[in-house]
Amino acid sequence: MTDQPVTDTGVRDAIARLRVEVAALHAELPANDLVVWTAGNVSARVPGADLLVIKPSGVRYDELTPEAMVVCDFDGQLVQGERAPSSDTAAHAYVYRHLPEVGGVVHTHSTYATAWAARREPIPCVLTMMADEFGGDIPVGPFAVIGDDSIGRGLVETLAGTRSRAVLMANHGPFTVGPTAKAAVKSAVMCEEVARTVHIARQLGEPTPIEPALIDSLHDRYQNVYGQR
Ligand SMILES: [Zn+2]
Repeated sequence: MTDQPVTDTGVRDAIARLRVEVAALHAELPANDLVVWTAGNVSARVPGADLLVIKPSGVRYDELTPEAMVVCDFDGQLVQGERAPSSDTAAHAYVYRHLPEVGGVVHTHSTYATAWAARREPIPCVLTMMADEFGGDIPVGPFAVIGDDSIGRGLVETLAGTRSRAVLMANHGPFTVGPTAKAAVKSAVMCEEVARTVHIARQLGEPTPIEPALIDSLHDRYQNVYGQR
């Protein structure tokens, strides 16, 4: 058990709020059929500190209370918590360290997205909802093993070359990012949905790509105009 004191009250309040939020968002993973057993995780950046809130390793989703969440620094080291952090913490931490605009990271092995990752095949942008949400194809990241910076590095490099907030890590599965943890969870749900739909479309023939100019205008409208302002 580690419990380093956090002296800044703003940061302490943010951690308390994010423990509740990240615990609740973990319930969305099994609710949306994105995970089996304990294989998936959500994290959130703590505003005003180089810290993140993430799930502990190997704990079942129905046991994930706000108190069970752990706090780590951007080297993936435990700062607060009673259990070891998720084994994917180093990858999450690497993303926060290198991409200051990212406020949330999600990783799952959701079935259809992972099937595309198994073939190392990007999901082609053949649906308006893909243009809206991802702004193009969902790209494939490099093959990387767990335990060092290689997953995080592969994610950051792949995200640099795309508008997509989802990356399919080769032979592994999807990682998504967003300005908030909730946005990253939404991208994980949408990524699995389009992976499934495009897979089914393929069963009947070759889906028709959307023209790049149309992708641009759909993406721009959805990101800047659509929804409640
Ligand atoms: Zn994984």
